[in-house]
Amino acid sequence: QELIQKLEKTIENIPDFPIPGIQFKDISPIFLNPKLYEEVIEDLVAFSKGKVDAVCGIESRGYLFGIAIAVALEVPFILIRKKGKLPPPVISEKYDLEYGSAEIETREGQIQKGQRILIHDDLLATGGTTEAAAKLVEKQGAKVCQFSFLIGLRGLKGDERLKKFNAGIYHILEY
Ligand code: IMP
Repeated sequence: QELIQKLEKTIENIPDFPIPGIQFKDISPIFLNPKLYEEVIEDLVAFSKGKVDAVCGIESRGYLFGIAIAVALEVPFILIRKKGKLPPPVISEKYDLEYGSAEIETREGQIQKGQRILIHDDLLATGGTTEAAAKLVEKQGAKVCQFSFLIGLRGLKGDERLKKFNAGIYHILEY
């Protein structure tokens, strides 16, 4: 609808960044328009209202919207960061990349057993990062109930990779 059209006009597509063949979606122009930012938050909040006990945001663009979603929902916000950024004690999850592997972490004790969790990031591509985030959450005894993104990239099968968590998946727009 209207929000989708505004975002399509605002988000920039940069071909061949950061490597040849990748169509990079730059969301930073959204922050030049506070009214539009507010509309994005309202839309993402509507998806999660009354359904989650905490929001986990994935470094780093997942923080730009995730914290505002959590504040609007009046629930805690938890940072999921790349290895080595958070002080101990931390809980970690390793995952495979196209070349090599990566690791993400949360501070121990910030996620509570039994909590219903929303995992938020700006963009869903292959779903590798989000899948690792969900595993990290669930090994702490919480349940991932929802995933939300601004953008879903069609054709990379991110949604399929997240199916096993039996959670709601939402993205405002798709490319
Ligand atoms: P995935 O693990 O393949 O789903 O990749 C998703 C992660 O890569 C997210 O954290 C995104 O922020 C980042 N990402 C991948 N492609 C893009 C892009 O075109 N624009 C912005 N971020 C991207």
